[in-house]
Amino acid sequence: MNGSENDIIGYVNSTESFGAADGPGVRFIFFMQGCPMRCMYCHNPETWSTGGGKEYTPAQALALACRYRSYWKDGGGITVSGGEPLMQIGFVTELFRLAHENGINTAIDTSGAVFDPSEPFISEFDALMENTDLFILDIKHIDSEKHRILTGRPNDNILAMARYLSDKGKDMWIRYVLVPGVTSGEDDLKRLSRFIGTLGTVRRTEILPYHTLGVAKYEKLGIDYRLRGISPPTAEEIRNASDILGI
Ligand code: SF4
Repeated sequence: MNGSENDIIGYVNSTESFGAADGPGVRFIFFMQGCPMRCMYCHNPETWSTGGGKEYTPAQALALACRYRSYWKDGGGITVSGGEPLMQIGFVTELFRLAHENGINTAIDTSGAVFDPSEPFISEFDALMENTDLFILDIKHIDSEKHRILTGRPNDNILAMARYLSDKGKDMWIRYVLVPGVTSGEDDLKRLSRFIGTLGTVRRTEILPYHTLGVAKYEKLGIDYRLRGISPPTAEEIRNASDILGI
């Protein structure tokens, strides 16, 4: 598992040994430190800061994950999530390159927030794509202005990333957090559905029902929780959104 660029350091907030929701099969998940977005519903606000996190070289990270390799049946492997893993693209690319050298499936769960179609980022992204089996792309909102209100940033580069992945033939899953009154508008869902329909490589679309499990973390960190008073979607609201998205 020796890599040529093992001096790249990754900053990892936490790990999960038996992840079942972030890619196919059972997976080892790295939650990377640092995120440029501030999604109102984020349940991992402890990953926002770019300072801190446990330090790993790619080879050390792979060795840690591989302790659980015997559980990776049905296409399982490694997922890198966050935070925003593209903020540490060099580390993730090297980790995935080593993983592929060892026949391990790789997935990245990203908001696409730092995607930039110009140099130098795009060459780094191409190198990442070569070593990534699945992109799990979280689209927070299809409307750029509503996206900015929800996350602090517009979505133009994120939608551009989805198009780029499609053009390059890379498999992706699309994820969408359904928040009543915030991301549940019928017109927005129809627009999202039309956008997804223009992409040629979406293998799965998932709705993640908004939940309030992270609220206590905000209190602990002294951060204002702006979705206070909003309840998780009802089964009917989820069904309605699923119908519009053709799930
Ligand atoms: S992109 Fe993810 S980690 Fe970043 S603020 Fe949004 S939900 Fe949280």
